[in-house]
Amino acid sequence: MNNVFIYCELTEENHIADVSQELLTKGRSLANELGVQVEALVIGHKLKGIEKEIAPYGADIIHLADDKRLSPFTSGAHAKVLIEALKKRQPQIALFGATANGRDVGPRVASALKCGLTADCTGLVIGEHKDRKAKKVYENLLLQIRPAFGGNIIATIINPETRPQIATVREGVMKKEIYAEQHPAKVETFDMTDVLDEIDTAVTIIERHIEPPKVNIKGAQIIVAGGYGVGSAENFKLLEELAKTLGGETGASRAAVDAGFAPHERQIGQTGVTVRPKLYIACGISGAVQHRAGMDESAQIISINTDPKAPINQIADYSIIGRVEEVLPKMIKYYKKNSK
Ligand code: FAD
Repeated sequence: MNNVFIYCELTEENHIADVSQELLTKGRSLANELGVQVEALVIGHKLKGIEKEIAPYGADIIHLADDKRLSPFTSGAHAKVLIEALKKRQPQIALFGATANGRDVGPRVASALKCGLTADCTGLVIGEHKDRKAKKVYENLLLQIRPAFGGNIIATIINPETRPQIATVREGVMKKEIYAEQHPAKVETFDMTDVLDEIDTAVTIIERHIEPPKVNIKGAQIIVAGGYGVGSAENFKLLEELAKTLGGETGASRAAVDAGFAPHERQIGQTGVTVRPKLYIACGISGAVQHRAGMDESAQIISINTDPKAPINQIADYSIIGRVEEVLPKMIKYYKKNSK
């Protein structure tokens, strides 16, 4: 009761998804602040040993809903198990990944439990809220922070009265960190008796086609990212060459993706991927808040831009004022020369 609850998603290979381990890390720090426990729920089949991928991130109680009707994922069955689990455990906070599955079941659960849900949070902190009209102070609320109105404001959203306070978070937004390699966790089998009825399991998956992800910019240590200032798909090849030379990946701003310079899976930012590489080279990117949301935790940022006043230069460690098409060939040439 009153704990922090994490819905742990599985990958195709039946491992815990990165986003869930990121949420466990965040959930652990929230629980420590509140002085409560972290509970995790995994829903699937053949889950033996899966707790080893959860406990080190700080879960105290791990519920395993293991049933062949729960794999592969179907919305109705997973939502029902989640609803039953949340009704039984009555946590104060429940966190879901803002993944295809999390976005599917999260609102179903929130609706069934008649509580609020804040989607795509970029920050989660514990705080208080003073309701001046009702002359009431709400303590230890989950402050759910996210950009709103097209990114023009950063909103803090609260659910003062209903529980659990449900939030979804995109992959990569929170950092995952091992809490304790040998963190003691109680593993409990979730009782599936009478949980699923015919309606919950009405959908049968007949055939599945799985396309592995084409790029992994989230894991890249060096990213050469291009914006609208790159000018053309042809010029983007210079970024690809520099990325290859440095052993990195290319990324793009939304404007560059919209202009057809790069595919959507390389988009970085609020509606793209969140990255934290050791080196981020921003080429012809102005540095709008929506772009920065996905890269401002990079260890080192180099900006190449014709405009010294471009906002990206406020967060760049080094700013090169110049044209991408002139600067990049020199960088490639001198890097190759000096690294021989
Ligand atoms: P611009 O803002 O047009 O900047 C181009 C830059 O290139 C300028 O600074 C210019 O000085 C420079 N330049 C021009 N020519 C050259 C040259 N030859 N050499 C060097 N520099 C040059 N954006 C994202 O990136 N990711 C997101 O996930 C994202 N999500 C969004 C979500 C919402 C809800 C909204 C409303 C917007 C979102 N955006 C996102 C869009 C964002 O607001 C900006 O419009 C976008 O990031 C701008 O991209 P840009 O910097 O490439 O282009």
